[in-house]
Amino acid sequence: MDRWVRSLRRSKVSRSADWPIGVVHEQERRPGGEVVDAATVFLAGAECPFSCVFCDLWQHTLSGPSPLGSLPRQLTQALGEIGQRSLIKLYNASSFFDPTAVPPDDEASMLRLLEGFAHVTVECHPRFVGDRCFSFADRLDGALEVAIGLETVHPEALPRLNKKMTLADFDAAASALTKRDVGLRAFVLLGCPFIADEEQLDWTLRSVEHAARCGARTISIIPVRGGNGALESLAVDGAWSPVTLDLTEETFDRALRLNLQDAVVQLDLWDLERMSVCAHCVDARVSRLGAMNLSGLAEAQIACAWCGAGVGLDRP
Ligand code: SF4
Ligand SMILES: [Zn+2]
Repeated sequence: MDRWVRSLRRSKVSRSADWPIGVVHEQERRPGGEVVDAATVFLAGAECPFSCVFCDLWQHTLSGPSPLGSLPRQLTQALGEIGQRSLIKLYNASSFFDPTAVPPDDEASMLRLLEGFAHVTVECHPRFVGDRCFSFADRLDGALEVAIGLETVHPEALPRLNKKMTLADFDAAASALTKRDVGLRAFVLLGCPFIADEEQLDWTLRSVEHAARCGARTISIIPVRGGNGALESLAVDGAWSPVTLDLTEETFDRALRLNLQDAVVQLDLWDLERMSVCAHCVDARVSRLGAMNLSGLAEAQIACAWCGAGVGLDRP
């Protein structure tokens, strides 16, 4: 399966090991409702050893292990663009606690650079959630949160994603983190391969609920985006269809109405414009979803006379 997924990839984007891919500034609603400044730093490092059929993160990775010293250099560059030391997310397109992705000898300098941040989020596959993660959390100045892709709780789709993770693996990692007071953020897919179109909404909501039950305090719904090669091949076989903006809106509206106590559900807005079939309403619809990320409340739908989006309107 790994070979099949990788054979369909195009070439990577060339990246320097000395510069971060980018820094994104946004506001984020935290569990409890507070809205804080959040900076996401996209680090260029080693490619993830897994080859999930839906993943396109490999495009911006280096060939070979992350060189010693490169991630602290990238973080230093990124910090020059970050004012408020509130929440920082370090996304390295792999597992932060995989020694190939983040050399253990770089940890001391990363910890120094992260001093003063109240919250630090890193991403990690459950296989790398262990002693190294907990030792990092103990030495970190602020509170550590580990982001794990749950993807889906669908019992047939999850094993077919080639993530090499069972639901029990996710649950065990979640339990280990929460026992040690390390935060858990979960990523859940909408438009997951191997799930029928009419069941997508239901399985995404079930996955959100499962993540919350396992202790995730932030749950991010990720609409699957095409373009990695494998998804296009699955689409030909009828095993995957691109997600529509209508379905994305309906799923997020419903997710915000779930009873999840103090867990925050967010929608990943990246590239949502690509899903739209109507240039007249796309900006307003994406802005509405962004506002809902901050308020945690479903807002009135946007009505569009051109495409018929929104209730009770006909195309002119
Ligand atoms: S584990 Fe995460 S980064 Fe690695 S291939 Fe899967 S989705 Fe991509
Ligand atoms: Zn429209």
